[in-house]
Amino acid sequence: MANYDYDLFVIGGGSGGVRAARVAAQTGAKVGLAEADRYGGTCVIRGCVPKKLMVFASEFRDTVEDAAQYGWRVTSDGFDWLVFKTKMHAELDRLEGIYRNILSNNDVETFNSFAELTGPNDVLLADGRTLSAKTILIATGGRPATPDILGGGLAISSNEIFHLEEMPKSILVVGGGYIASEFAGVFNGLGTKVTQYYRGAQILRGFDDESRGLVADEMTRRGVDLHLGTNVLEMSEYAQGIRVMATNGQERTFDKVLFATGRIPNSGNLGLELVGIETGRSGEIIVDQYSRTSLPSVYAIGDVTDRVNLTPVAIREAMAFVETVFNNNPISPDHELIPTAIFTQPEMGTIGLSEEHAREQEPIEVYASSFKPMQTAFAARADRVLMKLVVSQKTRRVLGCHIVSPAAGEMIQMVGIAIKMGATKEDFDRVVAVHPTMAEELVTMKTPVRAG
Ligand code: NDP
Repeated sequence: MANYDYDLFVIGGGSGGVRAARVAAQTGAKVGLAEADRYGGTCVIRGCVPKKLMVFASEFRDTVEDAAQYGWRVTSDGFDWLVFKTKMHAELDRLEGIYRNILSNNDVETFNSFAELTGPNDVLLADGRTLSAKTILIATGGRPATPDILGGGLAISSNEIFHLEEMPKSILVVGGGYIASEFAGVFNGLGTKVTQYYRGAQILRGFDDESRGLVADEMTRRGVDLHLGTNVLEMSEYAQGIRVMATNGQERTFDKVLFATGRIPNSGNLGLELVGIETGRSGEIIVDQYSRTSLPSVYAIGDVTDRVNLTPVAIREAMAFVETVFNNNPISPDHELIPTAIFTQPEMGTIGLSEEHAREQEPIEVYASSFKPMQTAFAARADRVLMKLVVSQKTRRVLGCHIVSPAAGEMIQMVGIAIKMGATKEDFDRVVAVHPTMAEELVTMKTPVRAG
């Protein structure tokens, strides 16, 4: 039998890679891991975590205003980006330290280096060292994809957003997905004048139409200048900022332009072609239901496989990989009925089928309630929320739940349990309302608003 340096070598120290390395090491395997950048990956260093901190920061503007409506004598001198930024990066340093400790406490040998494959069981580090492993796991994640247009280099991506020298006075956000819509809300809350260009008919394509419509309406009402059916043609440097020519004929100048136009797998320069690992059109590594690539000794998980690009999914894929390979218990990660939240303002929480997708599948009933929540209505705000259930007429199962409201992410996590268990509309109805809350609407909607 061949002798390898490691039982498992992981390339990539993000959420998926670190989880796989730790859990595999806990089975007694000898594990090595290479990470070229910072430990923690996109989620911890330049994604979910700093983004959510910025969302929190941006929401205080309304909180301060509402406090006055509730009788508090408060004044605000505005937002200090440098104070916040310093604290945010200290927090990211702390979290990165935790990730490093997780690895060292579990005897995972780490290499702060780029790594590439040179054979089915061989990895080459940047310093020329070659290491061998019985199994190799690629968990290199993804990176922002930006359109190739004239002057495109003047724009920033989500990677740079957390390192701005100062808060821009104006920003153009290009794109209509998760990242674009979240940052449009963040900058709007922090006091920047936000314009958003999205090339399609409505932002958040693929999600429930009524829900994304409400998110777009609310974002606009709160001050985001949203232009649908609009894209950037070219950009140039200008004394006052970045001059942008758009498909709607407008020429406008912005302090900053953010491209949030999707992400692509980090699969280049890994030697995949050399060792014969199959990739797809966007460079995603093709894997089977056990995350195994076309080369049997190599597995891949997370965004580099472009399945469902969410941190908790990468972690599930990591756990299933370790069960399969190190515990002799083949398990496929479950990609069905994944609850998710989009941290727009207002937030959206969603699981299962949109009304439109469900309607294509079978006859449905739609239960929906849109209203002004008590907390903000009292503060004289016009904010509206939406609670929506999409129900199968035949089985009565709740096929989808869509929530647009503050804390929608927290709510959808809980609703997700019921829906994953196959709850019917009548199961929801049997639950006594928690009063007064927004979520109580989910168990008190008696008559469908639409059917068919
Ligand atoms: P998305 O794929 O969600 O959105 C990309 C957006 O950019 C779409 O609106 C797309 O338009 C548009 N776009 C693509 N190419 C161009 C182009 N050439 N010119 C103009 N617009 C373009 O990607 P994101 O970057 O927002 O996020 C990447 C992934 O990261 C998400 O899919 C999600 O999995 C994950 N994520 C999850 C978060 C969460 O859970 N809260 C937060 C952030 C990211 P069109 O719709 O027409 O294709």
